Order: sequence, then C-alpha cells, then structure tokens
Amino acid sequence: MAHECAPIEANLAHVRESVASACIRAGRSMEDVAIIAIAKKHPAEAVRRAIAAMQLDIGESYVQEALAKQEEIADPRVRWHFVGGLQSRKAKEIVGRFHLLHSLDSEKLAHKLHNAAVDQGVTQSVLIQVNVGREEQKSGVMEEKLPELAEAVLGMPELSLQGLMCLPPFFDDPDGAQPFFAKLRKLRDDLERRLGVTLPTLSMGMTGDFQQAIAEGATCVRIGTAIFGPREY
Ligand SMILES: *Cc1c(COP(=O)(O)O)cnc(C)c1O
Repeated sequence: MAHECAPIEANLAHVRESVASACIRAGRSMEDVAIIAIAKKHPAEAVRRAIAAMQLDIGESYVQEALAKQEEIADPRVRWHFVGGLQSRKAKEIVGRFHLLHSLDSEKLAHKLHNAAVDQGVTQSVLIQVNVGREEQKSGVMEEKLPELAEAVLGMPELSLQGLMCLPPFFDDPDGAQPFFAKLRKLRDDLERRLGVTLPTLSMGMTGDFQQAIAEGATCVRIGTAIFGPREY
C-alpha cells in the first residue's frame, strides 16, 4: 500500500518546522500549539511510526475505525482525539476513551455524552464545533446558538468544556480561511466574557491552512495529509 511507504518521520519533522516558523511569525511560543496527527483511513502501522517519532496526540474521525485502532495500538502514552461528526447514539462508545472530543454540536449530543460520563464515572473533555462558514453540508453549531449550547454544557458537571473547534470553508488560497479563524477566536473571547469562564483551546487549521490558523491563535492544529500522506477512499 502506498501509504506504508510514506515518509512519516520526515513528514513529521517538516510539519514541526512549519508549525515552529508559523509560531515565530505570529510571535507565539511553539509550546502553545499542539500538533494532532489525524490518522483516519491510515492503518495502525502508520500511527505506530508516528508514535515512535513522539507524535502522541492522534486524531480520528470514525468511531469504529478509531476504537479498532486504539485496541490494536494500546499505547497508554497516546492522547486520542475524536474530531469527526458524532451521532448521539454513538456517544457512549467514545466517552472515556478520548482525551478530547472536538465535535460537540448539539444539546442532544451533550446530554448523551453526559449521561454516559456519569454512568462510567468519568469526566469527558469537549470542544464545541462552530459552523463558522454557515455551510449546510458541515456540522457545527451556528454562532447565534453557541452561547445557549455552551451554557447547557457548562451546566453538565461531567463534561469539561475546553474551547471551540471549526472547519472553515475550503479555499484554494488558504488566506481565504483566515477571517474564519479570526471569527472563531472572537466567538471564544465573547463567550469567555459573557459566561465568566476560561476556554483555552482553539482547535483550528489543517494541512492546507494551519499557518493561517496559528496566526489567529490556534492552540491545536489537526494535520492529516501532511503527516500520513493522501487518504484512499
Ligand atoms: C481529516 C480531518 C483533518 C485533517 O485534514 P488534512 O487536510 O488531511 O490535514 C482535520 N480535521 C478534521 C475534522 C478532519 O476530518
């Protein structure tokens, strides 16, 4: 398979350098930006190679694939992230198994996650995904509903709201995405003021646009292709 020959170690080194230079340009410290390697559609073997290169934040988008890979890899050093759309009926399968869920986007899902967290006696960290481009085909809460959802989540003691996530519209020129990243940061700042809480995490930026996201304050960049190579569907 082509991706087994992908130079994952070299790719990772290159991504780390690009993240570092984006941080320098933005006047930020590299320690404030976590790289999450998005491994969807790549085999456990590819993930093991990334782990061997000390890439310990790993992200997945599909529940069954993620759980199978977790079982196969079974490495307690890994911090697993769930970044894909999540149906409420699958909420209980991911609670307690992921360091951070990036894609909470409805009160219904929040309730299911909270019930599962209570049942399991765990606290689940979450981000709220915002549909910053108001795109019909994308998940995420619309910005006008964000305060209400955030308040509901803050009222659920076994969910720990850490911040916001977005997937901006696609642009051939990644500079087009930058205003959407700025918008997510502003929504976060407004929420913090309005609700009197701290929401430190901004999950934004992928292979094509992570430099723009870092310029706007991203604290997590979710990078798949630049680390693991192209996905085969
Ligand atoms: C697949 C995916 C990524 C990674 O995308 P690349 O362009 O391959 O870096 C990031 N975030 C989410 C939510 C994804 O589904």
